[in-house]
Amino acid sequence: MQNRLKDRIALVTGASSGIGEATALELARQGARVAIAARRRDRLDALAKELTALGAEPLVLVADLADEVDAQRIVHETEQRFGRLDILVNNAGVMYLEPIAEADLGRWRHMLELNVLGLIASTQAALAGMRARRDGHIVNISSTAGRIANPNAGGYSATKFGVVAFSESLRREVYKDNIRVSVIEPGAVATELREHIGHAATKDALNAWADSMRQLQSQDIAEVIAFCVGRPAHVNINEVLMRPTDQE
Ligand code: NDP
Repeated sequence: MQNRLKDRIALVTGASSGIGEATALELARQGARVAIAARRRDRLDALAKELTALGAEPLVLVADLADEVDAQRIVHETEQRFGRLDILVNNAGVMYLEPIAEADLGRWRHMLELNVLGLIASTQAALAGMRARRDGHIVNISSTAGRIANPNAGGYSATKFGVVAFSESLRREVYKDNIRVSVIEPGAVATELREHIGHAATKDALNAWADSMRQLQSQDIAEVIAFCVGRPAHVNINEVLMRPTDQE
């Protein structure tokens, strides 16, 4: 178990907090070497110390992944450092919730650029190397909001439905190259994600809803991701929809 991912090279985006941070640590515990990307260098540096202690030889990549140049650069820098990239976890994301009529389109554009286009750009950059080696696994983080569209979540759900659609199209384009694609769709997870909601009433309502239940923890998602990428090469877990037991 401990060495299931020995000799695997992983890149986790949005690794400075929440699900990404827990995923980087879990992959490292299972033997992977890990590159970590996000904007906050101090958080990445702190995580890198923990990863070093686990023997993961971390590569810190400070990047704004809403910028497609950065989203591609982190893949190429990982390949340069480790010689290849085996596992790409496209996790970085923001959730701006507000009624459509009041939506700040500048913020929604940014959300689309990060949650969808950044993910696509990193994926595109990873494909050449994975195809050449006929080996690779791309894990995209969507959400229950990528399966069910709620009021005040029009922009966010558009990005997360987009991630589900992109992942399925990608899987069908690359499965013959022995590249696996998994999309993970968590319900409420206790992270910093909700802190950035600008619309006060929506933020309060969502926080009250989340506080009413035993939320998923980042580690719960990290273990599922590690399980998916740790399967034998002939097994591709395409999609995982997971909610807190208490979530309807
Ligand atoms: P966090 O806010 O804790 O993590 C988000 C991560 O994305 C951070 O590491 C952040 O780092 C990074 N990020 C944000 N903007 C950028 C950017 N422009 N460039 C690079 N990195 C960026 O929330 P979660 O861990 O919850 O979110 C991770 C993913 O899980 C997201 O895609 C989210 O949509 C999804 N998700 C979360 C759920 C939840 O209930 N929490 C449920 C379902 C899905 P930094 O700010 O340092 O750049």
